Amino acid sequence: VNEFELINNYFKSNASLASSSASDVLLGIGDDAAIVRLGERRLVVATDTLNSAVHFPVEAKPEQIATRVVAVNLSDFAAMGAIPHWATLSLSMPNTDEQWLAAFSHTLLKSLLAYDVQLIGGDTTQGPLSISLTVMGESKKDNLLVRSGACVGDDIWLSAYTGLGKAGLDKVLSGNGLPKNKLKKLTEQEASFLVDQFYQPVPRLQLGQRLLGIANAAIDISDGLLAEAEHLATQSQCVLTLNQPSIPVHPILSTLYNQDQQWQAILCGGDDYELLFTASVDQRKALNDLSKEMCIPLARIGQVDKADNQQGDKVILLDQLGRSIEINEKSYQKGYLHFNA
Ligand code: ADP
Ligand code: MG
Repeated sequence: VNEFELINNYFKSNASLASSSASDVLLGIGDDAAIVRLGERRLVVATDTLNSAVHFPVEAKPEQIATRVVAVNLSDFAAMGAIPHWATLSLSMPNTDEQWLAAFSHTLLKSLLAYDVQLIGGDTTQGPLSISLTVMGESKKDNLLVRSGACVGDDIWLSAYTGLGKAGLDKVLSGNGLPKNKLKKLTEQEASFLVDQFYQPVPRLQLGQRLLGIANAAIDISDGLLAEAEHLATQSQCVLTLNQPSIPVHPILSTLYNQDQQWQAILCGGDDYELLFTASVDQRKALNDLSKEMCIPLARIGQVDKADNQQGDKVILLDQLGRSIEINEKSYQKGYLHFNA
């Protein structure tokens, strides 16, 4: 079983067994964060783990791990339009390296503070390096930003660029050398921009909150654009049709990659932490205005279509002539899957 089959088979389908007051749960397993009702308020909870050698290379600096774990968690809050308040940290490490701990804790607390999030607890154990952060906060408005809200006819929107997370990882893995695929020499500025894309992605918290009441559905892009589009399509029971020529290409990608590699990074790379969302056609002006106001590019990259039971494809990618581009293991691998043997 892969990651998502595992979650579905063993946790999602049994989740009701563990609860007698399921009516408190406004949103359970399956979205970017869970939402529960606490009196008049709505508590939002998300958790994410970073394992050494899986989510970051063993050479990663403690400061880099700290900024990444905060960003990855807060990105799930962004995708819900939620406001983070508190966090707990579960830290597993092979030995007590005090220099490492000083650097890690300092950066972690500083990063949390920058988002007004307070560390309120955690757990510390000996074992392979693994950092797990649980973030809690609230959802202020009645309209939730969930994966299941997309409506047929909606536009599909993407914030900024995808592919930079993968490009950043390629740069990180190449160390002081040049990324394996590189076509041109990177300037120092470009190189450090790429490393920051991987270790310090910017969670789109403010954008997510502003999308409440405008967008119908949203998801953040941790596993790759096509993979997340498929999650959104599945939860909304519709098809997401993406127009490849409308998907923005960051100029640095063409200095790094050839055409094929570039699209592989943009469509499947992951680690981007941008928002993919849908909104009705009459929100176009509001979104273009919001894009200008927030100085975040927002691109309209496709539309939501009715689910076609015969074909079964949840995501369709069209080229400039409107022909469908094949998405499969050989052309575009959809995204990162843990336990994908
Ligand atoms: P994200 O990439 O947004 O962090 P994931 O793809 O990791 O989300 O997880 C998909 C959904 O499954 C989320 O709602 C998550 O909370 C839930 N989930 C993942 N692992 C487990 C688990 N072991 N038990 C219960 N729920 C889980
Ligand atoms: Mg997410």
